[in-house]
Amino acid sequence: MARVLLSVMEFFRPATWADALALRAEQPGVRAIAGGTDLMVEINFGRSRPAALLDLTGIPELAEWSADGPVIRLGAGVPYTRIIAELGDRLPGLAMASRTVGSPQIRNRGTVGGNLGSASPAGDAHPALLADDTVVEAASVRGTRDIPIREFFTGVKRSALDGDELIAAVRVPVADGPQQFSKVGVRNAMVIAVCSFAIALHPERRSVGTGFGSAAPTPRPAAGAEEFLAAELAERGLWESGGPLAESAVREFGDLVARAATPIDDVRGTAAYRRHSLAVLARRTLAWTWQAYREEQRRCA
Ligand SMILES: Cc1cc2nc3c(=O)[nH]c(=O)nc-3n(C[C@H](O)[C@H](O)[C@H](O)COP(=O)(O)OP(=O)(O)OC[C@H]3O[C@@H](n4cnc5c(N)ncnc54)[C@H](O)[C@@H]3O)c2cc1C
Repeated sequence: MARVLLSVMEFFRPATWADALALRAEQPGVRAIAGGTDLMVEINFGRSRPAALLDLTGIPELAEWSADGPVIRLGAGVPYTRIIAELGDRLPGLAMASRTVGSPQIRNRGTVGGNLGSASPAGDAHPALLADDTVVEAASVRGTRDIPIREFFTGVKRSALDGDELIAAVRVPVADGPQQFSKVGVRNAMVIAVCSFAIALHPERRSVGTGFGSAAPTPRPAAGAEEFLAAELAERGLWESGGPLAESAVREFGDLVARAATPIDDVRGTAAYRRHSLAVLARRTLAWTWQAYREEQRRCA
């Protein structure tokens, strides 16, 4: 007679954030679950067997966002569908990235908190968050601390979160200039990025933000490219004049983004293809954002 081994997985569904943090602290084997679109795949494929699940969907404040002056505080449990519908004007880069995530069903369930919790190099929210100087609010029974997004990703699927911490929210500055996100995949939808790139122009700060995915062990900014472009725009007075960007500068920007990558060959693409396509994405998205900036300048003149 076949013997069926049933293993028990405890399931907690706290109604308050304080209870969730207490459970996280008391139960070392517990895994948080928000939309479940990453975690249930892990469990169903036998890659993970947590002792307990901590369902965060009963905590109202995680599913809320609010505007605090020029910053949006986005609860960790706000699904992509709502980011697209409610925040496309204020966080256009993140909304564009959200539109490329999975399918309508995945976007209805999946959250930025879950994307960050998985910390995959291919997570689509990450490049846009990196380009926009996001702060991750990490909470535990010990209190809350801010983790700048550029310090959040520490290795492949690893983050700066401590074992007893949960993500409460991310604070993302409202766009002060044009933003773009672009992704290469092996098909048009429901696809893990072969590589991805986000750019945000920050005219008020006279700076440029970038982020790329699937081309290094972690999502990363292309710092050299950001510095180069900010210097080019400042030295040539282009922020003020809204003049055209030299083709050589656009090319150099793309090359610097490609050079910031340390990709690998895998089933989705070769390292060489990833570098090449990142440079193409960087050039294209720069051209689109700069064109949008120039049009805005002309409208305001
Ligand atoms: C068919 C399919 C297509 C997909 N397509 C894409 C895609 O195109 N792009 C993309 O980026 N992703 C994609 N994904 C992956 C997934 O949808 C995203 O990563 C999503 O953002 C995960 O969010 P979630 O709320 O479902 O996370 P969950 O699965 O609930 O959790 C994911 C991880 O984060 C942790 N976690 C959740 N919430 C918190 C919190 N508040 N604090 C700390 N840790 C937390 C969990 O413990 C777990 O480790 C796809 C998944 C599927 C199944």
